[in-house]
Amino acid sequence: MKSAMHPESLMMTYGYKPELSEGAVKPPIFQTSTFVFKTAQEGKAFFEIAYGLREKGRNEELGLIYSRINNPNLEILEDRLCLWDKAEQCAVFESGMSAISTVLLEFLKPGDLLLYSLPTYGGTDHFINHFLKEIGVDSIGFRPDHNINEIIKMVEETGKSDKLALIYIETPANPTNVLIDIEMCKEVANHFGTSEKQVYLATDNTYMGPLWSHPLQLGADLVIYSATKYIGGHSDLIAGAVLGNSEVISRVKTLRTFLGNMASPHTCWLLLRSLETLKVRMEQQARNAQEIANFLKQHPKISKVHYLGCLEESSKSFEIYKRQYASPGAMIAFEIQGKEREAFQFLNHLKLIKLAVSLGSTESLVQHPATMTHTGLCPDLKKKIGITEGLIRLSVGVENYEDLIADIDYALDKIEYSEDYDFERNENRPRLKRRV
Ligand SMILES: *Cc1c(COP(=O)(O)O)cnc(C)c1O
Repeated sequence: MKSAMHPESLMMTYGYKPELSEGAVKPPIFQTSTFVFKTAQEGKAFFEIAYGLREKGRNEELGLIYSRINNPNLEILEDRLCLWDKAEQCAVFESGMSAISTVLLEFLKPGDLLLYSLPTYGGTDHFINHFLKEIGVDSIGFRPDHNINEIIKMVEETGKSDKLALIYIETPANPTNVLIDIEMCKEVANHFGTSEKQVYLATDNTYMGPLWSHPLQLGADLVIYSATKYIGGHSDLIAGAVLGNSEVISRVKTLRTFLGNMASPHTCWLLLRSLETLKVRMEQQARNAQEIANFLKQHPKISKVHYLGCLEESSKSFEIYKRQYASPGAMIAFEIQGKEREAFQFLNHLKLIKLAVSLGSTESLVQHPATMTHTGLCPDLKKKIGITEGLIRLSVGVENYEDLIADIDYALDKIEYSEDYDFERNENRPRLKRRV
C-alpha cells in the first residue's frame, strides 16, 4: 500500500533502505552490470519471475539479476515516480523518445490504426508518420478544435475503426498550450473498444506532470514523460518514463528488457537527486511564468500571449483547464509583432535567457518554433495551429522574475520597426502606445 504522506515528503527516502548500503543517507550509484545470486535455486527463482514462467508468490519480489532487467537505482526511481501519479507501476527509459516508441511498438501491430492529437512532439510525429507507417500501422491525427463527433466520424471514415488500438495525445499541445480533453478521448476509446479488445489511451504529460496533472486519474491508461524536462530539471540528462497499472507496465517493461533501452544507474541517480526539488522548482517556475505573462500581455510589441493563466473564464479551454490542471504551468508562447526578422532580433538580444530547445529546466530557455522545433511541419498545419513567424516559446526557469522581465524588456526594445509599420491591435491592451 502507498503511503498517505505527500509525495514531496517522500522524495528523499522512499523505497531506499540505508542499512543495505553501509548506512549511506543517499543511495549509492549501483554501477554494476550483474548481481551475485546466493544460491542456484535463488537464481532459478528470479528468472522464473523475470520471464513470467510463474506468478510471484506472496511477498516475493523480483530479485536483482542483471542491470538491463533491474538495478537498485532504477527500482527506487520507479517507486518514487509512482507516488506523484498514484500509479501501480513505472518503467524508466534512456530517453523520452524511447519511452514513447516502446509504448507505440507494444500497443500497435501491423494493420492496426492509431489515433493521435496534432500537433505532437516532432520526434513522436516522425516515428508515427515514417517508422510506424512503413511497418503497416496507419494513423490519423485530430486537432484540438475537433469535437468528439468529428473525431469519431474521422475514425469511421478510415474504414478501419475495428482496428483502432491506441489513442495517443499530448496536452497541453506544444508550443501554443492548446488543450486536449483527456476524458473526451477516453470516451472515444470506449466507443471503439469491445469486450475482446480494449482501445488504450496514452498521454504525454511532459508539460504539466507529474505535479499539476494526473491523466491516469482522468481515464488514461498510460502516462508518458520526457524526464529530460521537469523531472530531470537541470538540463544535464536525457530520460523518459511510462506509468500505468501493473498489466500495461508489465507489457512495457518486457519489451524494454528486449530493446534494452532502460536508463543507466547514473542517470537514475541524477533523477533521484532531481526529484527531491521537483515541487519547489516547478512551483517557483509557475510563479515566475505568471509574472512574465502579465508583463507580456500589456507590451505593445506583443500581439498574443498563449498561457494557461491568461485563459478567458468563459472559454471551453478554461473549462478543460480547470478539470485537468492544478496550475497554469511554466510554459509560455507569445507572438511578437512582425515576422521572422523581428522575432530573431528579439532572440539575439536576450542575455540571461538562453536560446536553446528543451524545456522544464532551472534556467529559462527560449526558441523559435517555426524555424526550430516545428520546422518540419507542413505550412498548412503550422497555420492552423498558430505557429507564426513571430511566435516565441519560453520555458520559464527558477531565476528571479524581475531579472527575467528586464531581460525580455531589453530585447523587445531592441526590435526595430520601420517608420510606417502597421501594428496589429493587441486585444489585451486598452490603447496602442507606440514605442518604436
Ligand atoms: C522533449 C519531449 C519529448 C522527447 O523526449 P526526449 O527525452 O528528448 O527523448 C517528448 N514529448 C515532449 C512533449 C517533449 O517535450
